[in-house]
Amino acid sequence: MTSETDVLVVGWGPVGQTLAILLAGHGWRVTALERQPAPYPLPRAVHLDHETARILQAAGVADAMADGRIETADFYEWRNGKGDVLLRFTSRPMGICGWPEANMFAQPELEGLLDAKARSLANVTLLRGHEVASVVERDGGVDVAARTADGATAEFRARFVVGCDGANSFVRTSIGAPVTDLGFFYDWLIVDVRPHVPKLWSPLNIQICDPTRPTTLVSGGPGRRRWEFMRLPGEAIEDLNRADTAWRLLAPWDVHPGNADLERHTVYRFQARWVDSWRKGRVLLAGDAAHQTPPFAGQGMCAGLRDAMNLAWKLDLVLRGHAPDALLDTYAEERRAHVRGMIGFAMALGRVICVPDPAEADARDASMMATRDPQATPPLPGLLVGVLHEGDPLAGKVCVQARVRTGGRDGLFDDVVGRGWTLLSLDGDPSQALPAELAAWFASLGGIAAGIGTGGAPIGDVDGRATAWLRESGAAVVLQRPDFYVFGGAPTLADTPALVTALRARLESRAS
Ligand SMILES: Cc1cc2nc3c(=O)[nH]c(=O)nc-3n(C[C@H](O)[C@H](O)[C@H](O)COP(=O)(O)OP(=O)(O)OC[C@H]3O[C@@H](n4cnc5c(N)ncnc54)[C@H](O)[C@@H]3O)c2cc1C
Repeated sequence: MTSETDVLVVGWGPVGQTLAILLAGHGWRVTALERQPAPYPLPRAVHLDHETARILQAAGVADAMADGRIETADFYEWRNGKGDVLLRFTSRPMGICGWPEANMFAQPELEGLLDAKARSLANVTLLRGHEVASVVERDGGVDVAARTADGATAEFRARFVVGCDGANSFVRTSIGAPVTDLGFFYDWLIVDVRPHVPKLWSPLNIQICDPTRPTTLVSGGPGRRRWEFMRLPGEAIEDLNRADTAWRLLAPWDVHPGNADLERHTVYRFQARWVDSWRKGRVLLAGDAAHQTPPFAGQGMCAGLRDAMNLAWKLDLVLRGHAPDALLDTYAEERRAHVRGMIGFAMALGRVICVPDPAEADARDASMMATRDPQATPPLPGLLVGVLHEGDPLAGKVCVQARVRTGGRDGLFDDVVGRGWTLLSLDGDPSQALPAELAAWFASLGGIAAGIGTGGAPIGDVDGRATAWLRESGAAVVLQRPDFYVFGGAPTLADTPALVTALRARLESRAS
């Protein structure tokens, strides 16, 4: 018997989970197939940024994360072997997106919350112990076959399939997607520790760019610390990946079996690569299946969650018949450019630390300390291409999320007012400027409008952040996409119809 579904998600990591929740929120039936019979219990990602936190808010798990599962980072310091500071990233406790800029956490805890959220939704079906072995598009749908844990074959038919099946993606191979590999790879021993007694680490996150052993020390979320040790030239992986090696390398930090538990040790190869085609017809790729980055910027999973957020609203519009399939080509166009930028940043950081040669490290130190102020800011790249108001300087920027008050409720904008296509203005409700037919079209997208501000505005800007951001934007009206990027701005309230008409033309365009 073949089970039918709207979207079939392959892989139940954080990206597949988030995508399933977001699509189910739009009302679609989602079936997820995961080959592992049980969740992966060990830590991997430890950092997520404020934009990712807003995505997790949309997925309904951010409050639970913030409730004791996140440690907010202050500084991320890069020191040479002598202790001189080469780089210092300062993270603000409140980012543009309404969450702290840098959040340290344990991936299994996040996956546990996403799993529980997804299972609470009637239109999500998760089947564990199902390894996808065949994906074939035919007759306006996709046939998928999976091997079950008991050796049987289960068959499915979906309108779309998304491969969220990780770095060794079967779905990627099955659509023959070519991969661009930048050939930047290093092996690192990852050691996760649970200290018996909490200790204050300041700064919370440190990179020690010492050529004798490049080392990372970061929070692994509340109650955990992560150390990462680079494999030195000539060092055998089998020697590095041993518990006694891990304890030996931890000893200089006074971490030993008497005061800490070793949660795990494993050697990972960090890579920099992405697929060139993220879509073949009705089959798409997201998360590690589509890209892998060195972890120095803490962005691998964040990129995957951005994929899920981007793809969810586009699949929704295409499934509803509001936009042609060509809209899905903008998914790859937008996400590939963003991912390339983030991988470039992570590689630039990797080039600072992955230096085992003392002379090269001395030259690096001299050049960095002579020419650079150590204060640095991680990039918050917006979108450069895609579904954007052409020629508009605001288009593609990350839009603010403020704390607001309306109708007796006080909270973050997305929770209190709503999310999706959003018109924002300091000059009153911008939807009032739309003619009836255009207003009806915008409402059919699920669009909302908000007159925001201090004083008597219908939506009160509690901490003034929205007002400041909108003033600085220079636009009277800002149109925000469902994934929190700005589509474009209008100079006056009266120009709102032109902005919404431009969006309509862009979404209905048959060219990607
Ligand atoms: C040491 C380390 C540190 C990291 N630090 C960070 C960080 O600080 N911040 C950050 O953002 N990211 C970080 N990452 C990256 C992050 O862990 C990954 O990007 C993230 O797990 C990818 O999620 P995913 O859902 O795409 O894939 P995965 O989590 O790999 O999930 C894929 C799932 O697909 C399943 N699957 C595979 N093949 C099939 C099949 N044929 N059929 C059915 N199921 C299948 C797998 O069993 C798996 O459960 C780090 C990674 C590592 C290794």
